[in-house]
Amino acid sequence: MKKKIAILGSTGSIGRTSLKIFQKNLRQFNICVLSANLNYNLINTQIKKYKPKYFIITNKEVYNKIKIKFKKNKVKILNDFSDLPKSKKKFDITVSAIVGIAGLKPTLKFIKISKKVLLANKETAICGSHIIKKICKKNNSKIIPIDSEHFSINQLTNNCKDNEIKKIYITASGGPFLRKKIKFFKNIKAVEAIKHPKWSMGKKISIDSSNLMNKVLEVIEAIRLFPFRSDKYEIIIHPQSLVHAIVSFKNGQTKFLYHETDMSIPISNAIYENKVDIETLSKFKNNFTNSFDALRFEKVDKKRFPIVTFLTKNIHMNSGAIILNASNEVLVDSFIKNKIGFNDIYSYLRRVFRDRDFKKYAVKKNPDIKEIYKIDNWARKKTFEIIEGKK
Ligand code: NAD
Ligand code: MG
Repeated sequence: MKKKIAILGSTGSIGRTSLKIFQKNLRQFNICVLSANLNYNLINTQIKKYKPKYFIITNKEVYNKIKIKFKKNKVKILNDFSDLPKSKKKFDITVSAIVGIAGLKPTLKFIKISKKVLLANKETAICGSHIIKKICKKNNSKIIPIDSEHFSINQLTNNCKDNEIKKIYITASGGPFLRKKIKFFKNIKAVEAIKHPKWSMGKKISIDSSNLMNKVLEVIEAIRLFPFRSDKYEIIIHPQSLVHAIVSFKNGQTKFLYHETDMSIPISNAIYENKVDIETLSKFKNNFTNSFDALRFEKVDKKRFPIVTFLTKNIHMNSGAIILNASNEVLVDSFIKNKIGFNDIYSYLRRVFRDRDFKKYAVKKNPDIKEIYKIDNWARKKTFEIIEGKK
C-alpha cells in the first residue's frame, strides 16, 4: 500500500521542497491533499503535476478561479479545511508548512488524522504546543519537528532526561546584517532583509532571520516541544549555518549536528526515519571536508539584535509568546508593505509589551483554542493601533 501524504502549505518553500522529495518516490507515496492560499499559477501546476485528491485553497478569489478551471477534473477543490470529508482513515505523513498562526487549526485537524506530522510551522508550535501534545497522545500520532535546529535537538537528545543536559545552543547565521553598521539599520528595506546569506526561505521567516526574531521564536518552540528547562537554551551566532544545534551534556561530552543549508535534509530524514541516501534526493553533496575552516561561533551582540531580549521567563511560561508572535506577524507584514521601518519592529513590539492590558492577556497558562485566538486578536489590534499612531 502506498503511503498517504498531505502537505499543508504546498506552494511555500517547505511545501515545495517536501513535494520534490515525495516526487522522487511516487511508487511509495500517494499525494492526497495539498493546500495553499494564493499563487494561482503554482496551484495550477501542482494540480496538474501531482493530481491530489483534494486541493484546499483558502483565498476565496483564487479558489473560485481554480474551481472553475478544474471543474471537469477529478481533483476536488475546497475552500476550507472544514470542508474535507470526515474520515477515519489515517494519513501516513502530513507536512505542516503553512506560515503563521493560520497554520494552527489545519495542523490540529491533521494531527488527529495523521500517523506522523512533520512540523515546520513554528508559530503553531509556539501558540498551541500544549494542545498538540494532548491530541497526539489521544490519537497516537507522532510529531517530528523539521525546523533544522529542532530536528537536530531531537536527534541529539533522543531519550535524554533534563538532568543529563547542561546546555543547548541554537545556532543563528546572523542574517544579512551581521556585519552592517548599526547606524544604518534604520534605512534597511524589506528587499535587503529578505536576502538571506545562507538559506532560501519564505519572506516572513527571512525577515525574522534578519533581526533574530526567528531565533527567539525557535527558542520558545524548543522550550514548548522538548522537556528541558528553559534556562538551558542559548542562541549562538554561527555565520556558516552548517551546525544547527549543539548540546553540552553533564557527562563532559558536547555533540552537534552538522548538515548543509538545505531543508531537504531534515525533511527527508524525518520522512525516511534517517535511513536515506540524501545524494539521491538533494543536489548537495555530503562533503564535510569542504568546510574544515568554516565552523566559527560568536556570542550574540544584544545591541545589534535587541529582539533577543524578549526571551524572558514571562515569554517562556505563558501567553506572552502568543502576543509576541501575533504582533510580530503584523509588524513583519507592515515592514514588507513599507509602512514601518526595520527598527520599528523591535520598538513597536516593546510598546505592545508595555501596554497596560498586556499582563491581562499574557498571564494565561495553556490557553484553549478560543483563548489563543482572543489573545492573538488583542495583540494584532494593539499592534495596528500603534502602527497607525493611535496609541
Ligand atoms: P512560505 O511563505 O514560503 O509558504 C507559506 C505557505 O503557507 C504557502 O503555501 C502559502 O500558500 C500558505 N499560506 C500562507 N498564508 C496562509 C493562510 N492564511 N491560510 C492558508 N495557507 C496559507 O513559508 P515557508 O518559508 O515555507 O515557511 C513555512 C513555515 O515553515 C513557517 O512557519 C516557517 O517558520 C517554517 N520554516 C521554514 C523554513 C524554510 O526554510 N523555509 C525552515 C524552518 C521552518
Ligand atoms: Mg530554523
